Amino acid sequence: MPLRFNADQLDQAAAQFVEWHNEATSTVAFTGAGISTESGIPDFRSPGGVWAKNRTVYFDEFIASASARHEYWRQKAEAHRDFIAASPNITHLTLSRWEQTKRLRGVITQNIDGLHQLAGSQQVLELHGTARQIACLNCSWRDVADKWVQQFVELNKVPDCPQCGGKLKHATVSFGQALPEDVVEAAIEWSQACQLFLALGSSLVVQPAAGLPRIARDGGARLVIVNRDATPLDSIARMVVNAPLGAFFEAVERAETKSA
Ligand SMILES: [Zn+2]
Repeated sequence: MPLRFNADQLDQAAAQFVEWHNEATSTVAFTGAGISTESGIPDFRSPGGVWAKNRTVYFDEFIASASARHEYWRQKAEAHRDFIAASPNITHLTLSRWEQTKRLRGVITQNIDGLHQLAGSQQVLELHGTARQIACLNCSWRDVADKWVQQFVELNKVPDCPQCGGKLKHATVSFGQALPEDVVEAAIEWSQACQLFLALGSSLVVQPAAGLPRIARDGGARLVIVNRDATPLDSIARMVVNAPLGAFFEAVERAETKSA
């Protein structure tokens, strides 16, 4: 059974975590929506969340229908306002610092908001792509999303690829679209090779991402889960912390100062 801590026991949790972090030669962080909600980005999967009122545009609809493409771009333009307003928080910043000091191999994320890179992280595996870029579905053209979203809002018209006239879509993985194979392969390799796997702010239910903590555990890694709510993988973890991520990372900072 895992060690369990709640929001009132963060200093104990952090002390144990720092000990394990110091012992590990390879640490990997896996992040979900919970890290971004603390930067003010709504969790689109949560019931009653901002996106719950939007209908899902599946990838095959996007390909087949001009009105579905318009609806997709309308939703993305709405979400873009949240991304632009958001800044990295203490959790993003701590992970970036650990990468720079060689205490973290990198971040595997389910998020599409690019906040890890904004915090300075360079080793980031984006399982669901990024909403900060637009990509052509027909050729290799790519660009930052900002000006294309602006143009869509101004003209109320879905743009075409300036290079080949193909369909333009945010560089994210849509519902009904396969995850990028090379990214998934790298994530599996990181998970197998690590000694400490830190799952942060993910409900660990969306496959195949949710399989990564199990791969890490099967490879001998300690699994630490920090999430507001219980997850289906709690029973295989070495430590479960049910608390806000920001509060946990503040406690980790205090514990690092003590152990240094
Ligand atoms: Zn193109």
